[in-house]
Amino acid sequence: MRTELAPYAVSETNTRGRVVSEPRPKARGEFQRDRDRIVHSTAFRRLEYKTQVFVNHEGDLFRTRLTHSIEVAQIARSVARTLNLNDDLTEGIALAHDLGHTPFGHAGQDALNECMQDHGGFEHNLQSLRIVDRLEERYGAFDGLNLMFETREGILKHCSPARARGLGELGLRFLDNRRPSLEAQICNLADEIAYNNHDVDDGLRSGLITAEHLSAVSLFARHAREVAAEFPDLPERRRVHETIRSMIDAQVTDLLAESAHRIAALAPHSLDEVRAAPALIGFSAEMAGENRAMKTFLRDHLYQHYQVLRMTYKARRIICDLFAAFMADPRLLPEQYQTLGVVEGNARAVADYVAGMTDRYAIREYRRLFSVGEP
Ligand code: MG
Repeated sequence: MRTELAPYAVSETNTRGRVVSEPRPKARGEFQRDRDRIVHSTAFRRLEYKTQVFVNHEGDLFRTRLTHSIEVAQIARSVARTLNLNDDLTEGIALAHDLGHTPFGHAGQDALNECMQDHGGFEHNLQSLRIVDRLEERYGAFDGLNLMFETREGILKHCSPARARGLGELGLRFLDNRRPSLEAQICNLADEIAYNNHDVDDGLRSGLITAEHLSAVSLFARHAREVAAEFPDLPERRRVHETIRSMIDAQVTDLLAESAHRIAALAPHSLDEVRAAPALIGFSAEMAGENRAMKTFLRDHLYQHYQVLRMTYKARRIICDLFAAFMADPRLLPEQYQTLGVVEGNARAVADYVAGMTDRYAIREYRRLFSVGEP
């Protein structure tokens, strides 16, 4: 059952609306319309073939950016609804939060950022915003998806002050140290819960890390112990799933309790009060510490595993070589990006093209350009 939104939730009455005004949707709310536009976008479909940690073709069971985004949306929506916040907005932000990611995960983004050093850099949060504001070509009346201000604000999670200055109203909060809506804050934390847990799951499935390894992390060890006590005869795979399920539950429960406590202590009456306050959505100090320990473990043992680093090496090479080839001769770009290059400069157009590629498309494009005998 839906309950009333809290007075400090984002709603259709306190929203700053869309850049281009449009008639109200007939059978849905404005924030549902945003979510629907995101789901129908080209960039959203491409998430299916973009890497989270493992390259897309390495196995059918690993997370991709698409399944990651759906998991983030699931966690974020239930947190938002429990706190009487706008779950349609929360879902939209969660589904869009990774749209700007390059192929090959963080390795791809770091490589593209280096290639773009002399041309304004590359940052995936800004790219997500650029996709929904400019690059999607689906509507007659405007470029991009013309999303509501609060959806765009949530998508732009980080931004340097220098870049924020060029973003008008949307960049202001980075300059005067204000927070985004609680709905956006929820998405950041739901992102963290989702990736920590599914990287544990994928890491174990891949065999790069083991449950024994992970027992050095208190969060995992505690839940694994509880599961073993409750289900002593469970096969390994199911024990892992039970442990992860129980970690997610504990993290969501902690997040809800701590956030409800902070909100009650401030007792805000409006969205403006929420924006001016310190972050109200967060984990308890204890859970935040346990999450940090888990992240450190994953960094040292999974993201830095030599098999993952080999992928990182290959990804960097593919991204950098593609970038250099298109910069050396922009006529190699598809026409749409040549046209974009005339307006925004070749480097930005090349970055848009390369960032938009899926893992397998980038690999294919690399072969097409550099391998003799490929059509
Ligand atoms: Mg994410």
